[in-house]
Amino acid sequence: MKILLNNNDLNEALNNVSKLGFVPTMGSFHKGHVSLIKRSKKECNKTIVSIFVNPSQFNNKKDFEKYPRNIKKDLSILRDLKVNFIYLPSKKNVYHSKRTSKIKLNKKDQILCAKFRKGHFEGVIDVMDRLTNLIKPWKIYMGEKDMQQLHLVKNYIKKKYKSKIISCQTIRDKKGLALSSRNSLLNNKQIEKARNLTSHIFHFKNRLKNKKNIYKLLQQKKNDLKKLFDVKVEYLELRNANNLKISSKTQGSKIFIAYFLNKVRLIDNI
Ligand code: AMP
Repeated sequence: MKILLNNNDLNEALNNVSKLGFVPTMGSFHKGHVSLIKRSKKECNKTIVSIFVNPSQFNNKKDFEKYPRNIKKDLSILRDLKVNFIYLPSKKNVYHSKRTSKIKLNKKDQILCAKFRKGHFEGVIDVMDRLTNLIKPWKIYMGEKDMQQLHLVKNYIKKKYKSKIISCQTIRDKKGLALSSRNSLLNNKQIEKARNLTSHIFHFKNRLKNKKNIYKLLQQKKNDLKKLFDVKVEYLELRNANNLKISSKTQGSKIFIAYFLNKVRLIDNI
């Protein structure tokens, strides 16, 4: 396992590597990250994992500061997985050049998280552009847990690079809660609440099948969730899983949710 701390290390290590799989992360690993890494290892000759908590995608400085970091444990997981390369860049390594044109989301993309986290996806796309340009991977592995991110990055990268984005299914705990680094910011009681809320949404989606007034039922459910689980729901919407357009049937669609449990913001698509 080679730890690459700057772009010189990176260029030297990747020289002559073919069929390189890339797993971009912000660290604080859980089984979701591990599943992406394992898939890359299976499908590619070599695998590189980056750990970089990208400041430009946080619209709130406090959120950036309290984002969980756990580099020692992460490195030990990567060692056990026998990953070939770990890229741990500094901010300067990633942002060494100025952009020639600003990244802007289309109006149709200003939905879900983009509506509530101004500048977030511009930051994500910017960093993914820079990392892809530096690493030039064959395949990039990303999770469906962050479906909107996956969708936007895929559309951007396919226009500019040969690298192919591979979408990987969401890994959940035994009780259905989607694994997330942010779960480590919750206490046991809050984890239980998030699990119950998730299972509530799974059942709700089943009951939506063949219903006509889906929009109204979603609005009602959004209010109910506040009362039932004492959470602040940002959005609860049924959207087509391929193009993220608003949908009125559950088949081929997902319920997208973002909510605050105390001060921790969680997202899922079910
Ligand atoms: P993050 O470190 O949170 O930026 O996530 C790095 C990658 O792991 C992203 O592509 C995420 O979508 C993916 N990921 C996060 N949580 C999960 C999960 N529960 N299952 C599958 N992939 C995930």
